[in-house]
Amino acid sequence: MKILVINCGSSSLKYQLLDMDTQTPIAKGLVERIGLPGAVLTHRPADGEKEIITAEIPNHTVAIQLVLDALVNPEYGVVKSLEEIGSVGHRVVHGGEKFASSVLITDEVMQAIEECIELAPLHNPPNIAGIEACQKLMPGVPQVAVFDTAFHQTMPPHAYLYGLPYEFYEKYKIRKYGFHGTSHKYVSQRAAKMLNRPAEGLKLISCHLGNGSSITAIKDGKSIETSMGFTPLEGLMMGTRSGDLDPAIVSFIQQKENLSSDEVNDFLNKKCGVLGLSGVSSDFRDIEQARDQGNYRAALALDVFSHDVKKYIGSYAAVLNGADAIIFTAGLGENSAEMREAVVDGLQYLGAKLDLEKNKVRGKEADISAPEATCRVLVIPTNEELMIALDTLDIIQKG
Ligand code: ADP
Repeated sequence: MKILVINCGSSSLKYQLLDMDTQTPIAKGLVERIGLPGAVLTHRPADGEKEIITAEIPNHTVAIQLVLDALVNPEYGVVKSLEEIGSVGHRVVHGGEKFASSVLITDEVMQAIEECIELAPLHNPPNIAGIEACQKLMPGVPQVAVFDTAFHQTMPPHAYLYGLPYEFYEKYKIRKYGFHGTSHKYVSQRAAKMLNRPAEGLKLISCHLGNGSSITAIKDGKSIETSMGFTPLEGLMMGTRSGDLDPAIVSFIQQKENLSSDEVNDFLNKKCGVLGLSGVSSDFRDIEQARDQGNYRAALALDVFSHDVKKYIGSYAAVLNGADAIIFTAGLGENSAEMREAVVDGLQYLGAKLDLEKNKVRGKEADISAPEATCRVLVIPTNEELMIALDTLDIIQKG
């Protein structure tokens, strides 16, 4: 079966068409600047040249129509007819407490996703637009929703509740939800395979370190604690997000800088993190380069970041009562040997030790631990699209 995976942002749309017999993409692509001047679709067949298509793309329905046209195009398309596509898997950011796993999309599911808009006002509306567009353009093709939050629904109340009056949880649904769930789930499953152990009994600490970063404690294949919270702002310092702060700092900044609540929220999400600390960039490659050229603030930002990751690993080792493996994934985790070295240095108490030669690996699955390490350190490239497609296939086959 072929499965189309759709990930809709407010002005962008990423897609992959996967062949589930081989579990590999047949084509992938990206639509950018939806609803803006200069909209463009970049379509990449797995064994062909990339094709750039410019058009007026006022909304997500038009964007998806263009994607479907590209997939069947006689010149650069990859299928003869859309009937070859058995199902569509949609990334949906927030499933609230309603969804602890992926689901077949029905009218009731759509209503529940709409009810979660208040928890993810920037993310769920474009996700909904993408689903509605596919329902319109591919009638009768089953659509599945895969939630970023679902994997973390196994967290116990003592992990997801904040120190706020309980009524705020009941009235406003304020609790820790966690994000990047599809990635943490995928790498934890791969880790069990690499370690040749069943998920049952396995204690993992999964570090998704990219532009957005989060760490998850995984026991018996289930998330029991994660660093992102009510929103993706909590936890590690990130590319542009502040991560954990003394909450009193928020109103202090608001007063000092004369900002509205929306403005301070925007500031904490877009102007802080390693970008704000380094003053160089939100991209770790630029910051590592600036550090190598002697930039003090760049070095400081990298030190604060690796210290943050180390702290979370320590607290999750406490929650798990030890760890069998630490996983590094996403852009920075998969590629930066220096960051991995800085994080793992000093984790001897956990039994984690790197083989510095093996740690040179980039973007490939590898066990980079020294032979004597009792807590393995693994590099596992994430593959959220494949995880979405696998969940979708599972639901279609059960249905
Ligand atoms: P996201 O999906 O959250 O946008 P990615 O997982 O693609 O992020 O990670 C992107 C980040 O990974 C970049 O901002 C960059 O900082 C970092 N990165 C990618 N490659 C490298 C590398 N070779 N060295 C250091 N950092 C890297």
